[in-house]
Amino acid sequence: MSELKKYFQRFGYLSIPDNQNDSFTDVFDAQFESAIILYQKKFGLPVSGKLDSQTISTIMSPRCGVSDTGPKLHATKHFAYFYGRPRWVRGSPMTLTYAFSPSNIIDYISLAGIRAVFQRSFSRWASVIPVNFTEIEDYGSANIKIGFFSGDHGDGEPFDGVLGVLAHAFSPENGRLHLDEAETWAVDFGKEKSKSAVDLESVAMHEIGHILGLAHSSVKEAVMYPSLRPRSKKVDLKLDDVEGVQALYGSNPNFKYSSLLESEYSSNKAIGLHYRPCSCTFSWLLLVFSLLFMIT
Ligand SMILES: [Zn+2]
Ligand SMILES: [Zn+2]
Repeated sequence: MSELKKYFQRFGYLSIPDNQNDSFTDVFDAQFESAIILYQKKFGLPVSGKLDSQTISTIMSPRCGVSDTGPKLHATKHFAYFYGRPRWVRGSPMTLTYAFSPSNIIDYISLAGIRAVFQRSFSRWASVIPVNFTEIEDYGSANIKIGFFSGDHGDGEPFDGVLGVLAHAFSPENGRLHLDEAETWAVDFGKEKSKSAVDLESVAMHEIGHILGLAHSSVKEAVMYPSLRPRSKKVDLKLDDVEGVQALYGSNPNFKYSSLLESEYSSNKAIGLHYRPCSCTFSWLLLVFSLLFMIT
């Protein structure tokens, strides 16, 4: 119970009561119940206030390391922003540069492969807002700094090894985008057979959203939803993501809502088929369950 309370604290749902000397008790108290309710609302789950199976399996899903609520985060039923609604401020149209860390990089995917993943991801975001993204060589001077890091890497947000937290990024205009080096990153599930493989492009899409100023959405299909199952892909921006980011930067003059709505309709049908739980997902969840308790 105290481990779960720590998890809720880590992601912004629970604070330690003053009279408990920096630790949590194993008691299911009213505060814990309200944390569960907040969590269920944020993840679009049935709000029971109980640790039901759906809630537990969501907790066990690998996720982004960015906190969901924060002290005064403006939380709605859909997209959200960081406190103070920070955004990049430049002339319009805006150009932001990005670079890959020359030392913190993985070698089992080629640099060309990694660059292509990020190029596609940045251009999906650029197609909806008047912002251009350009890759440059010089990591030190780039607006957006991308790298693979392991464990404690000096920014106060240590990574936790395989699954659990996959990546994190900071709000504008910080620009740091960090991926957990310990994951089995994949660009092609046909080639990468590991059961715990994580799709690099889906995580890139999500973390770029943070870089631009979006916090976590409670819309399950949105790119900005906090968790992602291993061996699953979610790379297309949904209406919720687009509305969120356009409220910060305005619309790209070439962007058309109609094309988005069409793709939304077809992908929703695909999601409907995809979301039926199967025994393989369940055994996988058990695996993550045991991993999570090994690492905490
Ligand atoms: Zn996130
Ligand atoms: Zn980091």
